[in-house]
Amino acid sequence: MNENRAISRRGLLSGVGCVACLGAFGRLVMAAEAAATRPAVGPPRLSHGLLGRTKYPVTRVSFGAIRITDRSGVRVVKAAIDRGVNLIHTSASYAGGNSIRGVAELFKAPGGYRDKVFLCLKSYHPQREAEIDEMLSTLGTDHADAVLTELHEPSRERLDAIRRQQDALLKKGKIRHTGFVCHGRTIEVMKMVSVEARGYFDVALLAMAMGGGRPGRGGNRADARSQEFDKALKVLKAAGLGVLSMKSGAKEAVGQGKKVFEPHVKSLLEAGADSVLTSINSFQQVEMIAGLDLGSPMSEGERQAAAEFRERRRGACLMCGECRAACPRGLPVNDLMRVRLYLETYGWADHAAAEFAALGVAPEQWSACGDCRACSAVCPAGLAGAATVHAMAGRFA
Ligand code: SF4
Ligand code: SF4
Repeated sequence: MNENRAISRRGLLSGVGCVACLGAFGRLVMAAEAAATRPAVGPPRLSHGLLGRTKYPVTRVSFGAIRITDRSGVRVVKAAIDRGVNLIHTSASYAGGNSIRGVAELFKAPGGYRDKVFLCLKSYHPQREAEIDEMLSTLGTDHADAVLTELHEPSRERLDAIRRQQDALLKKGKIRHTGFVCHGRTIEVMKMVSVEARGYFDVALLAMAMGGGRPGRGGNRADARSQEFDKALKVLKAAGLGVLSMKSGAKEAVGQGKKVFEPHVKSLLEAGADSVLTSINSFQQVEMIAGLDLGSPMSEGERQAAAEFRERRRGACLMCGECRAACPRGLPVNDLMRVRLYLETYGWADHAAAEFAALGVAPEQWSACGDCRACSAVCPAGLAGAATVHAMAGRFA
């Protein structure tokens, strides 16, 4: 653990004489720790901004470690950090546990890599503190910089459970910052958070494909939803939320080189992201990212290149969750489309199978899809529909 952070927390807590006072001082302690949350190795060398109220100088591109499966992947993570990338996101389930074990290998190696990054851990089970304990133990660290707990539906009950989880983790020093992750009904979740928990979360990892007022992505309805997304994001950012972008097409763009990736990243930053999370698969990609110019405003040419890339992705799931909300059978159609993305777009068959299994939907429930077309009627990407549901469920169920 970074000594300065430990001393800061102990020093502040030493002035607090009773348990009841801890709650009142909680946010003060967090604020002081937020100010102390800096990379231990000096200012970032790559283009960076501030991650909301955490004040962490996050690099504009960060490392999603979801596909770290072996030693060569660990070497790529190491190279990315050596070149300046300073935020990493992982979880116990990624790549069958290989992701977190790979990151652990790097953290335990010489070089102090743990303190060179802002560590985000994804949580699936807010009621199970052991989930975090096990990840910290694997990683050989006593804290994460933020926990990002899944919040895909605008459920007050789930929100309360997450707050209980994260309050307890903060109090015990196991996390420095609160957070959530959403690739479900993102607009509704953002609206709920801004009403029920404004100012509570420090960081969010959000599916950003709808952001930035994407014109022409599927007619007036899609444009209206995109504007709704932008408005909801603006409210949360005004309350200090730090925003990490995911599932925007960054993984495809990074594979197409600087001419595609740079404008794509800039368009997401313009849409409100503080950092764009992406899988990074090779040393070549690390070097490309290290050479990006992300500090200047978008030129007309870049705007055009970003629009062309989005156009090539027309038909990709926007992660809006509308199909799920519309389904009279209550089927998680949006999650199934995410599984499809992993399988057909990314080629991650094992991850797709694991994510499908995690949905916990019995085969007979999928069979109950009755071709009512409610999901296809609302899908702005023209993707959801009984044919896709039966094809995907038929493959995995
Ligand atoms: S077609 Fe199937 S998945 Fe789509 S809304 Fe109707 S029952 Fe649900
Ligand atoms: S399949 Fe369509 S409706 Fe469902 S989440 Fe994706 S874009 Fe939205």
